[in-house]
Amino acid sequence: MTDPSSGAEPGRLAFQVTKNLAAASPAERAKKLEDPGFGTVFTDHMVDICWSEKGGWHRPRVQPYGPISLDPAAAVLHYAQEIFEGMKAYRHSDGGIYTFRPEQNARRFNRSARRLSMPELPEEHFLQALHELIAVDGAWVPSGAEQTLYLRPFMFAKEAFLGVRPAKKYAFYLIGSPAGSYFSGGVKPVSIWLSEKYARAAEGGTGAAKTGGNYAASLLPQAEAAEHGCDQVVFLDQRGNVEELGGMNVVFVKKDGTLVTPASETILDGVTRNSILELAADRGHAIERRPISLQEWRDGVAAGDIVEAFACGTAAVVTPIGALRGDGFVDEQPTGSLGTSLREELTDIQYGRREDTRGWLRRLDA
Ligand SMILES: *Cc1c(COP(=O)(O)O)cnc(C)c1O
Repeated sequence: MTDPSSGAEPGRLAFQVTKNLAAASPAERAKKLEDPGFGTVFTDHMVDICWSEKGGWHRPRVQPYGPISLDPAAAVLHYAQEIFEGMKAYRHSDGGIYTFRPEQNARRFNRSARRLSMPELPEEHFLQALHELIAVDGAWVPSGAEQTLYLRPFMFAKEAFLGVRPAKKYAFYLIGSPAGSYFSGGVKPVSIWLSEKYARAAEGGTGAAKTGGNYAASLLPQAEAAEHGCDQVVFLDQRGNVEELGGMNVVFVKKDGTLVTPASETILDGVTRNSILELAADRGHAIERRPISLQEWRDGVAAGDIVEAFACGTAAVVTPIGALRGDGFVDEQPTGSLGTSLREELTDIQYGRREDTRGWLRRLDA
């Protein structure tokens, strides 16, 4: 069934909407939303937009969620030209559906696109895609505590060509996945394995881009972390400075209340970290964005000068770091309460329990 497309004003794409005739019934959906976990349940529809050298962005569609058909020679399958984003939609108590600072994700998507030699998606198209998905799948935004609809925009090279050069055809997709807490069992301190053998990124590389290859590179060290009984892995740069975890930024809290976080071209500039630091600055905390070495971290903890370490990112929001484990040592981390308190303030804003004085929320269902 095809509905007439909506909104063909300038700057807006005219999406062709095809409803999923096999969509979940309200009862089936309610069952799936009871305990969705993370990343395994998907909504009934997805958004896709094509790009070609000749036509630019074209054929914007909302269609039933389902497998994508690709030529076996599609460039992404061979040379990994792929980028993605991760964001969330929140259900407020009045029923409204909101997302958090989506223009930040849209801009980062385009920074990632430039690094991977991919076409940029105009910010208004990125935002419109979110509205289009919510227009058909808004009922999939759960209303339980700590629940969200995780939104995953991504783009990949689909041109069938085995030569090595930027592809001439791309596809942008947006899918939605209802989610409970990222770490099963709720917020509890995580143990971190220090990877000394492997790097996830290097100077001049793609560390600042949200691209699948960085995650592929982090899987083996992540497995090493698991072998050592750790939940997550932390990476250092070639100079011995702390970078980040596989998918989360790190922040250290000093005794005098100063927050220190790595400044580097090789890490992903997180929206969660920037937001948390802004909330902390408004509370009067000093913020330092600078290199911090492993030595400074370990010595700081030993001397009582670092009183807390936490990780942050959209999926898990803020997670305290309970221990740092490396080859031949374990540093138990002091457990402060600042990270948890900032997490609460941030999620209160996101879920509409506290006033959004900074204009961070965007309503998606109106
Ligand atoms: C997405 C991501 C983060 C967190 O970024 P947010 O914008 O806060 O979600 C941190 N590190 C890496 C490697 C990431 O991919």
